[in-house]
Amino acid sequence: MAKQTDRKTLTPNMKASLLMEVSGKCPLSRTPLIERVKHEDGSLKKVVNQYEVAHIYPLHPTEIEVELLSGEELLTDDIDSLDNMIPLCKPCHKRYDTQKTVAEYRGLLGMKKEILKLSSFVRLWGGQGLYEDVVLVAKKVLALDEGEIKSNVLSYKALEVSKKADKTLGLPSLFKIEAFVVNYYPSIKKVLRELEEAGDISCDVLYAQVKFAYLALKKEGFDQDKIFNHMTDWFMGSVALGDRSKAEVFTSYFVQNCEVFSDTNSK
Ligand SMILES: [Zn+2]
Repeated sequence: MAKQTDRKTLTPNMKASLLMEVSGKCPLSRTPLIERVKHEDGSLKKVVNQYEVAHIYPLHPTEIEVELLSGEELLTDDIDSLDNMIPLCKPCHKRYDTQKTVAEYRGLLGMKKEILKLSSFVRLWGGQGLYEDVVLVAKKVLALDEGEIKSNVLSYKALEVSKKADKTLGLPSLFKIEAFVVNYYPSIKKVLRELEEAGDISCDVLYAQVKFAYLALKKEGFDQDKIFNHMTDWFMGSVALGDRSKAEVFTSYFVQNCEVFSDTNSK
């Protein structure tokens, strides 16, 4: 029987970073891992953890688990390191620890592998000061009212997205990006121009940074759908754009503007 006492003690920072890696959701059931309990007036009362940190490869494998996972890939030789840990909701953790399948093991391993590849990208991108620039832009764009946005849309003929999309993007994503571009591209462009004229940002630097981030993801072998999603995750997390579609608006802008999905080698 596994003892709970001889595992690594995780600091609050370690737990927070593990939670961030899975975007606060259980990777097996998509259940939110944190519950925000609010006062009647809407202010935050407390945060309740609904998760436990699981070892992807078991810390104390049973004979059955040793057999089941023999020959399977390991993420690290140090089973009790963060590289082998992932947060799960309590029911999934219980099930995973008592009746895991090879498919689930491979699923979690694949997810964590991608997370580890991404973490170097996030560090790289996060350290560039890009974050402050994007926050400025996002604030101004999201403050525009419907009339301002609608008075300034792009013609469908001017869309560049489908020229750069490959099969890994998928038609629904392509249509979604195109719709965001048609409706938001001119407004975002205008905001960027205004901020640059006011000396608040440099568009060239911003574009170069986004391009650099795109190339870093591409180098890791992510396909277009994943790159779009990872960049959107970054906008959501770092720029604190609460809802996903708002973040997608910005990723879409950079697709149309050639920083994302264009290749330096293409004509
Ligand atoms: Zn779960």
